[in-house]
Amino acid sequence: MIQSVLLDIDNTLLDFNKSAKETIKCAFNELMLKFSEEVFDTFLRVNNSLWRKIEKKEITRQQLHSTRWWIIFDELKINADGEKMERLFLSNLENYAIPVDGALDLVGYLSGKYKLYTASNAPYAQQVKRLTLSKIMPFINGILNFEAQGINKPQRQFFEQCVKAMSPVTSDGIAFIGDSLSADMKGGKSVGFTTVWFNYEGKDVVPPDTCDYTVKSLSEIKNIL
Ligand SMILES: [Mg+2]
Repeated sequence: MIQSVLLDIDNTLLDFNKSAKETIKCAFNELMLKFSEEVFDTFLRVNNSLWRKIEKKEITRQQLHSTRWWIIFDELKINADGEKMERLFLSNLENYAIPVDGALDLVGYLSGKYKLYTASNAPYAQQVKRLTLSKIMPFINGILNFEAQGINKPQRQFFEQCVKAMSPVTSDGIAFIGDSLSADMKGGKSVGFTTVWFNYEGKDVVPPDTCDYTVKSLSEIKNIL
């Protein structure tokens, strides 16, 4: 029987894509660069590919920060300072906390039945600020983040630490909701969580068997939990 629910943050509770877009527009304005949809699409592609590399331990988080905007500017043939852009991007991102449709309603509903925790690879202070801004914070019993120990999703250790922090509940009493098939579903299944894949992009795909349930909107989760 499910007793606790673990929630991913970016593109599950908070709309990272919308927040990132606003942040980039604002930073481009400051750097007097012209924003376009192509800029945002390139950001998403490069950023996702770098995060997959972090998940596979091919690069470190620091390497993402030191290369991300240089790669994007290079691809877009924009002559600008990638280091300065990265700084602006990081410092502005925490000021945008746009909830995914139905996120507040969902945490209100779930908190009446379960203890709620978040599981994210994003920096701890940034998560606290964004969850507070979005008014989600009061519903959360604990923010689980092991960044300081260099442990990230989908490492098995990350999820083992989660179970420890959620004690005395054991993994068969934990449901995990997240948008990433690699970081969330695969990792969560490896320790025996009940997994709920939030198909954030509404992709037309057959979910892998690491997903016990699949939803395309957060409101559908009320039919499951
Ligand atoms: Mg996510």
